[in-house]
Amino acid sequence: SSLYKINAWGSPYFSVNAEGNITVRPFGRHTKQNEEIDIFQTLEKAMEDKVLGDDFPFSPIILRFPDILKDRLETLQSAFDSAIQASHYEGRFQGVFPVKCNQDRSVVENIVKFGTPFHFGLEAGSKAELLLAMSSLCSGSPHALLVCNGYKDADYVALALLARKLRLNSFIVLEQEEELDLVINLSRSLCIEPLIGLRAKLHAKHNGHFGETSGENGKFGLTCMQIVNIVSKLRRCKMLHCLQLLHFHIGSQIPSLSVLYDGVSEAAHIYCELSNMGANMHCIDIGGGLGVDYDGSHFQESDMSVGYTVEEYAREVVLAVKDACYMKGVKQPTLCSESGRAIVSHHSVLVFDVVSAEEKIGTSEDEGVPLQVDGTLPDPIRRLCDDLAALIWVGNYESAMECANSVKLSSVRHFKKGELSLMHLASVNTLYDLIAGITEKRGHKMSPETSYDAVYHINLSIFRSMPDTWAIGQLFPIVPLQRLDEEPTIRAILSDLTCDSDGKISTFVGHEGMGSARSTCLRVHPLVRRKRYYLGMFLGGAYQEALGGIHNLFGAPPVVQISWKNRREMKTRKLQVSKVRDGQTISDVLKCMQFEPSAMLQTLHLALQRSLKDGLVEEEEDAMRALDCSFSSTTYLSTARSVASALLH
Ligand code: PLP
Repeated sequence: SSLYKINAWGSPYFSVNAEGNITVRPFGRHTKQNEEIDIFQTLEKAMEDKVLGDDFPFSPIILRFPDILKDRLETLQSAFDSAIQASHYEGRFQGVFPVKCNQDRSVVENIVKFGTPFHFGLEAGSKAELLLAMSSLCSGSPHALLVCNGYKDADYVALALLARKLRLNSFIVLEQEEELDLVINLSRSLCIEPLIGLRAKLHAKHNGHFGETSGENGKFGLTCMQIVNIVSKLRRCKMLHCLQLLHFHIGSQIPSLSVLYDGVSEAAHIYCELSNMGANMHCIDIGGGLGVDYDGSHFQESDMSVGYTVEEYAREVVLAVKDACYMKGVKQPTLCSESGRAIVSHHSVLVFDVVSAEEKIGTSEDEGVPLQVDGTLPDPIRRLCDDLAALIWVGNYESAMECANSVKLSSVRHFKKGELSLMHLASVNTLYDLIAGITEKRGHKMSPETSYDAVYHINLSIFRSMPDTWAIGQLFPIVPLQRLDEEPTIRAILSDLTCDSDGKISTFVGHEGMGSARSTCLRVHPLVRRKRYYLGMFLGGAYQEALGGIHNLFGAPPVVQISWKNRREMKTRKLQVSKVRDGQTISDVLKCMQFEPSAMLQTLHLALQRSLKDGLVEEEEDAMRALDCSFSSTTYLSTARSVASALLH
């Protein structure tokens, strides 16, 4: 497990058991040994019991561990409670979950349920998210906040006002100055007093990809001047008492406590100024940004890691707000945060299997010698080959590798001019791979694209299930779920099912090839015939599901929930494994592109009838059954052969 740094990024939720399988510790530090969940064994058993239906093992699958979600919420709440207590802070902490991180119904409903004891609320950034949040919060705490962020039109504002009628504490957070008129006019005509918040554009900024939203040139929020204008207008309209909340967002993955203190401190001073200007301020909403240590390096200067714990984060926020309020003589407000990735990342594990392995030529022990080819090589290549042989003879493998590269490039040039046969080119390529293999085995550093042994083809679409790896180079820990008591001897890169060269993963958590916390390959085991080899992608519970697209029409994977259920009558607990969402079928993804499967089936049926005009009735029936079957089958690779079987009937 040290190879994959599981303890570094996975603690306290993931570890490896004596059988060499990855286990989940659903209650974090409070998990007892007999409560650990062996993912591999749980999946195998669920398949045996047919709990997972037809989807699995033929498609990737999202496993959700609601107990982890609960633990994350409680960890955040208790970190703030402790920091508040330790520093005698006079306000309380009351968080909200930004639903954009994961809008899946089971996730949102669980957050509302688990967060009810401490009045946890929701944040929405669009009309659809607002409706979702409104209906979910109806069964939550009556004190929970509903923070309405994002750009707003009249309908958005009207919905947020309507939420007040439902006794929800909906705060309309102004992102733009123009939104104020909408709020004033609609609240007057609907006779509903609004709760108003302002989103401040801070000067504080963090570097890196996720800092783009912050700073003076950031996309969102109101400048100091706009804030002053809004206060004046609200005062003129006798609505200054409605202004009660200040919101800001420094950016996701805040790298260090100093950046955090800097941002919160600036915002806290704005908060105090607003209070002293006569607004009825109650709450400072510090936005998201609590980071996740994806590579376990605890390194402050990387988007993939953060240099603090949740407890340290909470202490810094409390301190920054307290310092500003003390200085300006303002009552200490309720602290609200919109942590997203820190809440939901850990509780989801994406499981997928390897469909085949393509060994790189030159890496296998029984690799054949380069092909024997008739005919002579063009002179320049022949000379390079002689140089190459001499370099290998004297053991200068580094130069041999460079020379082999020249041979390869020169051969391709000659092939394009028609001066080299395909057999010759194949022979040169084999020779190149052979030398690369030998050179590497002798410990010479290779360029990243050559420093792996095999390409493992995975039953997955990266664009669908881990889009951030492609879009922003996000690193998610990927680990075999089994055989971790066996040395993983193969260095692989992963290639997905899409017909897209970007559909591959060649950066991993680890130490190999890239110095610090990254690897250019994933250590895996040789595949064994007829045995499935599962990989798990961890920490991917935030953003990936909503951002994922249907490139090549690979559909959304099914979702399976795994949790311990109390059986009161027997005073025992049972592990409950249940499918909470089916995977998308071919029919489902076609509908996303405005195709109508039943009409398509009809068209195909007519075409079939025309072409089989004089054929057998059974033949037509089998073909129709096969087509029918294919519409309702998985978009991923499958060994089910349901379509083929229907045809071979
Ligand atoms: N709140 C706002 C306004 C955001 O823009 C974001 C994300 O960018 C979040 C909350 C969630 O941030 P994170 O997932 O980093 O906690």
